[in-house]
Amino acid sequence: MAGKSTMKQALISLRLWFDNEAVASGPVRIDWLRLIPFIGLHVAALGVLWVGYSPVAGVVAVAMYVLRMFAITGFYHRYFSHRTFKTSRWLQFGFSLLAASAAQRGPLWWAAHHRHHHRHADGPEDAHSPQRGFWWSHIGWFLNSAHFATRKALIKDFLRYPELRFLDRYDFFAPVLAMGLLFVLGTWLEYAMPHLQTNGAQMVVWGFVISTIVLYQATFTINSLAHRFGSRRYATPDSSRNNGWLALLTFGEGWHNNHHHFPGTARQGFYWWEIDFTWYGLKLLSWLGLIWDMKPVPAGMREARRERRPS
Ligand SMILES: [Zn+2]
Ligand SMILES: [Zn+2]
Repeated sequence: MAGKSTMKQALISLRLWFDNEAVASGPVRIDWLRLIPFIGLHVAALGVLWVGYSPVAGVVAVAMYVLRMFAITGFYHRYFSHRTFKTSRWLQFGFSLLAASAAQRGPLWWAAHHRHHHRHADGPEDAHSPQRGFWWSHIGWFLNSAHFATRKALIKDFLRYPELRFLDRYDFFAPVLAMGLLFVLGTWLEYAMPHLQTNGAQMVVWGFVISTIVLYQATFTINSLAHRFGSRRYATPDSSRNNGWLALLTFGEGWHNNHHHFPGTARQGFYWWEIDFTWYGLKLLSWLGLIWDMKPVPAGMREARRERRPS
């Protein structure tokens, strides 16, 4: 009997590679079988020993980082989680697809967990509370089964879009599509422009594998380091910090104390000197008429609840 249920559990874990609705959230336990694709991605970085490097592969890796970081911060975070601007259904889907190709799960899972974080920041309920230690807040919280399912009750406003539900349920789709397109690009360049010295496998290793791993680490720092290192302008009830280095790396998300103070704005750098690349990108999209109704930082909010400095 025990053997049978272990087998059944293993089959469910394998199904979760392709279908997130196969099971609800489980106990606080790491399901290694489910994590094989995640671990495999990291092992695949060793492929660089075989495929080597070319400048064009390096450029594509950086471009994939920039595009997908923008899609995650601008859309998964500022649009889906906090609704700080409006856009069309087409653009909503386009950027969801791009963000989903970063293999950080679908837009509904990501945004619902993030809304939950704002409600319970640093409390016992917070999925990635820094109180539980650095590694838990960095990666432990999503590696275990307890936070696996999409918190649908917190994302009802976007649940009605079947295309978003598709990306959320079958979250292997966008990363596999990205890998396929990169492979086609590399193979085409190998024949059309052999002097670039690239090929399909090299393009996948740099443009997807390495770029995605770096993007992972940068994103995770906001849950771990940005609740630990930096300065506090606002007396928020959590431990959020403003950190300029993290803001550069994550296109503005490092102004995390600003963000916890007032999450309702499309902008996270509250002053001109607080560099916020995502905000500049969103501004550009609004000038092109692709997004609108961007919520600003109200002047009163910028001055409210200042952290008292020790005298
Ligand atoms: Zn936070
Ligand atoms: Zn947020």
